[in-house]
Amino acid sequence: MIRFLDLQKINLAYQQEIEEKLLSAFRSGWYLNGIQCQNFEENLAKYVGSNHAIGVANGLDALRLIFRAYIEHGVMSEGDEVIVPANTYIASLLALSDNGLVPILVEPDETTYNIDLLKIEKKITSKTKAILIVHLYGQVVFSDELVSIAKKHNLKIVEDNAQSIGANWRGINTGNLGDAAGFSFYPGKNLGALGDAGAVTCKDDELAKTIRSIANYGSKQKYVNIYKGLNSRLDEIQAAVLTVKLKYIDDTNQRRRLIAERYCEEIENKLIVLPSIPLNPQEHVWHLFVIRCKERNDLQSFLKGNGIETLIHYPIPPHKQLAYKEMNLLSLPITESIHDEVLSLPISPVMTDSEVTEVINVINKFKSLT
Ligand SMILES: *Cc1c(COP(=O)(O)O)cnc(C)c1O
Repeated sequence: MIRFLDLQKINLAYQQEIEEKLLSAFRSGWYLNGIQCQNFEENLAKYVGSNHAIGVANGLDALRLIFRAYIEHGVMSEGDEVIVPANTYIASLLALSDNGLVPILVEPDETTYNIDLLKIEKKITSKTKAILIVHLYGQVVFSDELVSIAKKHNLKIVEDNAQSIGANWRGINTGNLGDAAGFSFYPGKNLGALGDAGAVTCKDDELAKTIRSIANYGSKQKYVNIYKGLNSRLDEIQAAVLTVKLKYIDDTNQRRRLIAERYCEEIENKLIVLPSIPLNPQEHVWHLFVIRCKERNDLQSFLKGNGIETLIHYPIPPHKQLAYKEMNLLSLPITESIHDEVLSLPISPVMTDSEVTEVINVINKFKSLT
């Protein structure tokens, strides 16, 4: 059986280092707001190239906190609009609606599945205050034109970097391309903790201070509360694990790239649409390897029958969810057809060459006439 993602194997690769760090966090007697979190924040900021990194409880909180801080700063307010890709994980939208902001959905580009940058400007109104870009599946979405549009209309660019840590655009890492970024360290992400964890990176000193205090009950000084904040912390145990794994993120992302290259070169089934490798391979960290197939459900059962586990990211688009009843009637045909046809193949740094070969061979046999 080839698992979609073998988290045990992924983490056991660093068993000794992680166990040592965990033991020292355990024995220190200090479990929140300590040296482990501070170390990780410093290392993450350095890795991303950003001025600030703030450890928080999860990726959704990271995004919620960014928009909440902009609201506290008066940069935007309830009822304002934020441009967001229609083809994304629902958390991107939840971060907005949780803050009373209105998500304005934009269709994806058919080849990258990322937001179509050329369709953004048409959606901008006097209420638009930000563009939330999502580097979906691990692929950078960014351009000089996006920056000009944001400047022209005075919009913030926020990155949902949950799937793309380590991706790089013209020498700049994701998480440092826009004004602020949210990271998720959910166990299955490219940099995964042993539970929930997340972070915000940003350039602006004041924004960083506000986010830090909102995440801490709205307080900078203990028992003095300036915002109606929340409790969203990165604990010492998770920070310790993440500090170890961050050192290896470039290596593990590179291993993902090699697997993606093999899939792209060796899968030859005409029923399958493969993703394209960006001209600059650094622009993709292959959090997911997503193929398209009109007979997606048959393909998934066929793979399952042959011992290969796959997942669908995602089966129902956000605008078709009951949670977003007000959007259910929107027509977003590209997004909808993507959701009907996508299938994610196993990809991870611990997959062996022979497992990759097996996946390729089985896919090439699907409904093949030869
Ligand atoms: C995982 C993910 C999130 C949310 O992260 P959590 O840590 O699970 O809260 C947000 N956006 C995208 C695109 C994600 O993939």
